[in-house]
Amino acid sequence: MTQDLDRDINLLEQIHVALGSASKLEDFYVILASMLVDPNSFGFSRAFLLRYDERSRSYNGRIALGASSAAEHEQFLRDLAEETRILQQQILAIQSESPEPRAIQSLYNLRFHSLWIHLVQGVEEGTGLNAAFKNVHLRGDLLGEQHLLHQAAQSNRARLVKPEEVSVEGLEDYLVGPAICGRLVTKRGLHGVLIADNFFGDTPLDDEFLVHFQWLLNQASVTLDNVELVEDLTATTQRLQDVDRLKSSFLSIVSHELRTPLTSIVGFSQLLAEERVGPLTDTQRDLLRRVSGHAGHLQSMVNDLLEIAEVEAGGMLDLSVEPVDPLACFWNIQPKIEARRGAKNVRIVPLVTGSTPNVLANSSALERILYHLLDNAVKFTEEGTVTVEFRSEPGELQIVVADEGIGIPPDNLRKIFDYFYQVDFRLERSYGGMGIGLTVVKLLLDATGGRIAVESQPGQGSRFTLTYPVEIAGRD
Ligand code: ADP
Repeated sequence: MTQDLDRDINLLEQIHVALGSASKLEDFYVILASMLVDPNSFGFSRAFLLRYDERSRSYNGRIALGASSAAEHEQFLRDLAEETRILQQQILAIQSESPEPRAIQSLYNLRFHSLWIHLVQGVEEGTGLNAAFKNVHLRGDLLGEQHLLHQAAQSNRARLVKPEEVSVEGLEDYLVGPAICGRLVTKRGLHGVLIADNFFGDTPLDDEFLVHFQWLLNQASVTLDNVELVEDLTATTQRLQDVDRLKSSFLSIVSHELRTPLTSIVGFSQLLAEERVGPLTDTQRDLLRRVSGHAGHLQSMVNDLLEIAEVEAGGMLDLSVEPVDPLACFWNIQPKIEARRGAKNVRIVPLVTGSTPNVLANSSALERILYHLLDNAVKFTEEGTVTVEFRSEPGELQIVVADEGIGIPPDNLRKIFDYFYQVDFRLERSYGGMGIGLTVVKLLLDATGGRIAVESQPGQGSRFTLTYPVEIAGRD
């Protein structure tokens, strides 16, 4: 293998390892630029990266690495040589004690990291060259067609900057000697332009430099795709978490604020309806019955909202799991279901074969769950029978709530447990509700160890199957 080829392969490997270690855009810029100025890598004097902004069509200075004077540059090289020498000594010492090649390889990589740390510290302090370069904003549409940045952005190959092009508008303070430039392109389009100069060096920039520079650009573009993807995902996750937190505290505040006045409305209208304050005419009684009915419904929706907020906040509700009699839960909620069922020609029929074992659940959660399933079954059935079957299986009990109602189209089946999801979204939809009953069901089941499955045929009806572990007799 020739020495040149050897060096090239090493260089490629370095580029690969180094760029791959960046997960944030700012880190990526520092690593990319430091590869250019590292004398053991490309050995340019300075590196500049301008990010292209699609919306404002401008080029903005993001990073400038390298020294601002020849003396500083010399000092930097001396520091680096010294650091490298110390590291190499340590590597040799370790090598003689442990011949484990992988450990040594990571130490070699560390040498480059130490350069980056040095550079990153300088960059973060935002001093000198880098601080000034970050203020560069060049409007693309105001730059002449022949401008270096346009030329670089349009060509898919890196190029040497000719001496007569060197002093370009907007970059006069930075580009004063021989340089190389090329573009960084990702799946999204032009990301920016990378420029490296040899201001303090005496090696002439030749075609070999150009080939290496192009390698770096290619590799950097691939890595950049990943970095952008990770950044997008992180930003989206952060945004979603913020929205989620906001939603939970919004739900909890609003439902608390609604609950207090609602309690008075429900209580006082009941007092009036029972004629404890004075006798009522038939019309007054009828109107009060409606007020009570609507207020009760509102109260149940507010309770659902509050319940979601409390379950999500965790630990606010007592959802401890213990042996629970599922039939008792079913009977307990019948009076609440009557309010809706009474006005319709719908029958609720429990089907119990054999004995029904206690399940391991939370009784108030199971009542809420059965209430929501039955309330939906009655709501979405115009006429017919709703059955509630208690089916004992080995180690489990299934409670199947089946109706003969409108059913749910297959595409919607997975979404009905989502917040505020309703198959019929129109404002003028015929069924009331907020689309949170099943969300409450799912949250409560998750918190108390039950499962739910749904099958449905549009026009024929739906079957919601709850599954709970049963209490094993004789176990402590
Ligand atoms: P809500 O009933 O308040 O709209 P849910 O979260 O309980 O909210 O239900 C979400 C949606 O799932 C309902 O709007 C309805 O479209 C559909 N759905 C739930 N249960 C049934 C059912 N038994 N029959 C038909 N559709 C149902």
